[in-house]
Amino acid sequence: VLPKTLSASSVNTAELCLARWAAEMLDRSARLSNDAAKLGSSVHGGLEQFVKAVFIDKVMAPTFNNLRMFYMASFGEEFGWIDQQSELYLDGLDLLETWFKRIDEFQEFKVISCEMKETFPLGTTAGEIPFTYIFDRLDQMPDGTIRVVDYKTSRWNVTADELREKIQARAYGVAAQLKFPEAKRIWVQFEMLRHGAPVGVMFTKEQNRNSYRYLRAAAERIIKTPRDDAPETLNSECKFCIRVGTCESVVSNTLAGGIVGMNLKDQIDRYALLDAQRSAVLSALSQLEGAITTQAKKEDWHENEGELARIRFKASRRRYVDSDMVAHIVPHEIWVKYGSQSITLRNFEAMIKDPVLNDSQRAQLRGMVNEGWSEPKLKVEMKKVGEDD
Ligand code: SF4
Repeated sequence: VLPKTLSASSVNTAELCLARWAAEMLDRSARLSNDAAKLGSSVHGGLEQFVKAVFIDKVMAPTFNNLRMFYMASFGEEFGWIDQQSELYLDGLDLLETWFKRIDEFQEFKVISCEMKETFPLGTTAGEIPFTYIFDRLDQMPDGTIRVVDYKTSRWNVTADELREKIQARAYGVAAQLKFPEAKRIWVQFEMLRHGAPVGVMFTKEQNRNSYRYLRAAAERIIKTPRDDAPETLNSECKFCIRVGTCESVVSNTLAGGIVGMNLKDQIDRYALLDAQRSAVLSALSQLEGAITTQAKKEDWHENEGELARIRFKASRRRYVDSDMVAHIVPHEIWVKYGSQSITLRNFEAMIKDPVLNDSQRAQLRGMVNEGWSEPKLKVEMKKVGEDD
């Protein structure tokens, strides 16, 4: 198949299952839009218009009232209604209030663009394929470093290590490097709006080259795939695939007692029953946990229940810094003084006060502190008899 265009999300789908990619990308099947996705778009829309008016066009004051006005308009466009007391509206407003607390940081860098949809050419054996991407925001730091910012409204946080592996983050690194070939490194930052602090990674030129090669290899796999005979690969996201009802691999997995075709409530109940026999069924439990976690992430919830049991994801709070990025920012002798392979928070706090550092380096270092949650753990409890009544 020769795709007309590619994107991080289409490559992600193709890497999971080429049959799903063919169904969704070639047949252009409609995908569902839910409240969480619409709220995300409303928040994005508000931030885009606000940052553009205040920091690019400079025609408006940086007040929260202005941000609220743009959010309200964006919310109305997405949902077709506005109720300022509704849970959904207030949820988005909360996220923007948290974001606005960091508005002073804009004095430390220059915003280059907002929500720019662009492409770069991905060279393949079948010719160049346009790879599309949208930078939510593109910044330039005082030392010239280019930063790509992506706003996220997910309830699931991401760690710096996870971010480094994400196709979307790597594609941003490639796109920005191609746009700014002289840049020694590209800073990619996901603003996790529900979690207060952003999470960022720095990609060097060499890492961006590797990511480009990776995208090219993914494109080649797609090109070699026969249009009407794309292979099915069972994976943890099958439940969200538009082919799940007709997929032969899912049918044979279900006939063999697999869980791919099972609905969420049944998954929760089966998880709870198996928990009582954990020693005998550890591997089945881990399959179910993976399927439930994937669905929770996709649908953005932390609690749910079946007929027999309820589940909850619990995480603990922690602060940490990305050693790779800190090592890129500070002079070598400072890095050697406070870190080695990695750096503790205590040493980081001491480093940031070191008089050798200048204000720009300190400002960048402050953005390196990721305050996040550990990967949530799944907890399950059986309901009491008659509890629902
Ligand atoms: S249900 Fe799973 S295996 Fe089947 S086509 Fe979809 S993603 Fe592939």
